[in-house]
Amino acid sequence: MSAVVEGLDRLLEGSDLADIRDKIERGERLDFEDGVRLYRHPDLAAVGALAHEVRTRKHGRKAYFNINLHLDYTNVCLYSCKFCAFAAKPGEDRAYLMTPEDVHARISAVADSDLSEVHMVAGIHPDLDYDYYLDIVRAAKRAKPDIHVKAFTMVEIDHILKISGKSEDRVFEDLREAGLGSCPGGGAEILATRIHKAVFREKIGPEEWLETARKVQTHGFKMNATMLYGHVERVEERVEHLCRLRRLQDETGGFMTFIPLAFWPYNTALRNYGKVTTGWNDLRQIAVSRLMLDNIPNIKAYWVMMTPRVAQTALSFGANDLDGTVTEERITHDAGTSAPMLLPRDELVRLIRGAGFEPVLRDTTYESFRPV
Ligand code: SF4
Repeated sequence: MSAVVEGLDRLLEGSDLADIRDKIERGERLDFEDGVRLYRHPDLAAVGALAHEVRTRKHGRKAYFNINLHLDYTNVCLYSCKFCAFAAKPGEDRAYLMTPEDVHARISAVADSDLSEVHMVAGIHPDLDYDYYLDIVRAAKRAKPDIHVKAFTMVEIDHILKISGKSEDRVFEDLREAGLGSCPGGGAEILATRIHKAVFREKIGPEEWLETARKVQTHGFKMNATMLYGHVERVEERVEHLCRLRRLQDETGGFMTFIPLAFWPYNTALRNYGKVTTGWNDLRQIAVSRLMLDNIPNIKAYWVMMTPRVAQTALSFGANDLDGTVTEERITHDAGTSAPMLLPRDELVRLIRGAGFEPVLRDTTYESFRPV
């Protein structure tokens, strides 16, 4: 019997989670009620141990990371989501817009030859035309032809489709020709109509987000999925969010990784309402995600929002990925995260090894791996 299984037996002794463990053992899907119970169960260690068992079966002791660069190409945004501290209106002092030349220069300036991914997301700028989006992707590829461009949330993809004046097929073909490799998972927030109306009513809601993700995946692009948690949502809405992603993944199979995003309230319209999530809640979110999302291969502990020390601990609660070096993130830093702006490769390796896992350098799509 492995140490993981022995430990789990001990933790679950006399616990009322035995039926959920039996379901997992039988390869049976957990249902909505199971999800709610896992969120509410008082014994976080038992919930975490269940998730760790699933994570260990899928990934052994491996923990993945990559060398990446975040470029948030503009903070100018048409919308005013209440949880957002990043967006600026045109003309504000803090408004900025990167040109394709800026994108080229930022990528060229990264000295690490293992840089394999640029992650580009931004606000919905009212004046950018269709060609701008293609040009920033082309600029990234010009700077480093082998870089993987992971760009545009479903909110941006929906906007690009709307302003393009072209067919859906043509837009995705143009993006592919420019060099787009995959899409990040942001913009879903919580896939619940009540939350959409309450905190981000101006931008696309749950149905449009899922429909846009379906379009992206049916056009052959892989993507990630996220959930912004820890603000005004209820436990049931988090479970529904996970169930909706799971249903779409059954249909399309294109989600690579699920990334829970811990909400930071500072400088947002929810600053007097939302509180910073706790390590307890963050670890629970990772564990429940691993247990509910049986068809999404990877669960990422995003250290920028979770802090490096909680992300490290999350590797024993169901997570198998720590994201990457990131290098230049603005969105969560504007909302007050206490995480540093970048984590050097050595620090990621130290965190992974320190938690007893084996660091593995990966590419964006989990097709090429290198032990460290
Ligand atoms: S979350 Fe995105 S869409 Fe909403 S205001 Fe901020 S930048 Fe704009």
